[in-house]
Amino acid sequence: MSRYLLFCNDLLRLDDNPLLCLPSDGDAALAVCILPQHQFSPKRASARRRQLQLGLLHDFQQRLAALGIPLLLRSGDPAVVLPQLLQQYQLVRVVAAEPTAPEEYSWAAGLNWHWLDANSLLADKLRPDLYTLPRSFTAFRQQREPELQVLAPQQTQPSILALNKILSVTDVTELSDLPRPEPDQPLPVALAQQLPDGFGHWQQQRESAVLARFSEYIQQHLSHYKLSRNALIGADFASFLSVPLSRGTLSVRRAWQLIRQHELQFGQNESSYWLRFELLWREYFRHLQRKHPLAFFCRSGLGLHQVPGTASSAGEALQRWQQGQTGLPFIDANMQLLAQTGWMSNRGRQNVASYLMFQLGCDWRHGAAWFEQQLLDYDVASNWGNWAYIAGALYSAPRSFNALKQAVEYDHAATFTSLLLGAPQTGNHRHQPYAQPNWPAPQAWQWQQYLQQLRAD
Ligand SMILES: Cc1cc2nc3c(=O)[nH]c(=O)nc-3n(C[C@H](O)[C@H](O)[C@H](O)COP(=O)(O)OP(=O)(O)OC[C@H]3O[C@@H](n4cnc5c(N)ncnc54)[C@H](O)[C@@H]3O)c2cc1C
Repeated sequence: MSRYLLFCNDLLRLDDNPLLCLPSDGDAALAVCILPQHQFSPKRASARRRQLQLGLLHDFQQRLAALGIPLLLRSGDPAVVLPQLLQQYQLVRVVAAEPTAPEEYSWAAGLNWHWLDANSLLADKLRPDLYTLPRSFTAFRQQREPELQVLAPQQTQPSILALNKILSVTDVTELSDLPRPEPDQPLPVALAQQLPDGFGHWQQQRESAVLARFSEYIQQHLSHYKLSRNALIGADFASFLSVPLSRGTLSVRRAWQLIRQHELQFGQNESSYWLRFELLWREYFRHLQRKHPLAFFCRSGLGLHQVPGTASSAGEALQRWQQGQTGLPFIDANMQLLAQTGWMSNRGRQNVASYLMFQLGCDWRHGAAWFEQQLLDYDVASNWGNWAYIAGALYSAPRSFNALKQAVEYDHAATFTSLLLGAPQTGNHRHQPYAQPNWPAPQAWQWQQYLQQLRAD
């Protein structure tokens, strides 16, 4: 007989939740979620994401309650709260979803702890050996893809038998130390229409809603994913899997399995393959962060390349970037989208990241920290990994994007930029860089080149 503390952070779902399957006959378990006070502070998480997280926690608690299972919710420092709970309920072992970053690993120090890599595709027998982890994404993908042609990696189903072993908790009043979710902050109507229904609202990111939406996406929109995924906004141009994956309301193994099932029924095509390809990027950063935990947060990273920007530089340039006032409409539109919705497309993220470090000369870690605070889909490995990757702090060389060129290519008619910034005040083109008091128009000479090219065409 064992007595477990099931630490359900990052696993707010019944489907493919190996924690809930763990206790066997004679065992006892207590299900717990803790809102880590540092990560949940306004400095590190926007009000919008805190609200989303609270909504999802309370929803998960209610779903477990419907099965007769209490979920203890706490806030505080897990390194302090967990030992207290172990002692209070006479539990001997903590079982949790394996993280990727040192901060979460540190919570296990000194405790009898068991990790289950429940949020990775490549878990259990498929788990990569970190010593021989390929350096580049391409090599990583080529190495792992053949193993993933099977329907899905090992799948676990919650067993009601196991759930019956969960301890009952009588002190439910302790839940009151957590704030209830506040009324939703509505998105501006024009933007809400350009995102999936109810985007950002916790009800739409619950397990049941997410599974239904993704199944519908596969049926109706997966076929155009490869063509549409570079768009900047739209209700179904991409999968919008990142929020439920990062908040733990969807299992990546389930997502993979649904795509594979669709492929087995209707055939694989470029789009279905590409969505799986993108999910492997997520995997790559997860395992790479475990291999090089500190390089993801250190300016020079692995030290293999000269990274752009000046160490710790911030100041006005950073503020303008954060507020969407750099003078380059494409960058400003993306940053204002982030501020208003907590979301940005992958194309937008690449461009604004590159712009901050290469054009504005800022330390990339300021950008990563701003994204950490703002993004609804914030995930430590994906966020810090992508920033470090663009900066050249990992294995490959820095990647600079020409934001003006990208604006003209991916927002040709400037519909996205106009949606966010409105029509330009003067008769200028919407993508034309603009000057502000004491702040010159960025990339102005490139704009002149662009105009000349237009005239020549
Ligand atoms: C600077 C920067 C910061 C980022 N920060 C985050 C973050 O905090 N959280 C996050 O989930 N993604 C992050 N991404 C990756 C990517 O931009 C988002 O996952 C994607 O835009 C979310 O939209 P989607 O779910 O519709 O993506 P889709 O295009 O439909 O892709 C499907 C899934 O594949 C995965 N994926 C796709 N691209 C990447 C990528 N480049 N890296 C890792 N996984 C990927 C995600 O899980 C995504 O949900 C970041 C990218 C950049 C360039």
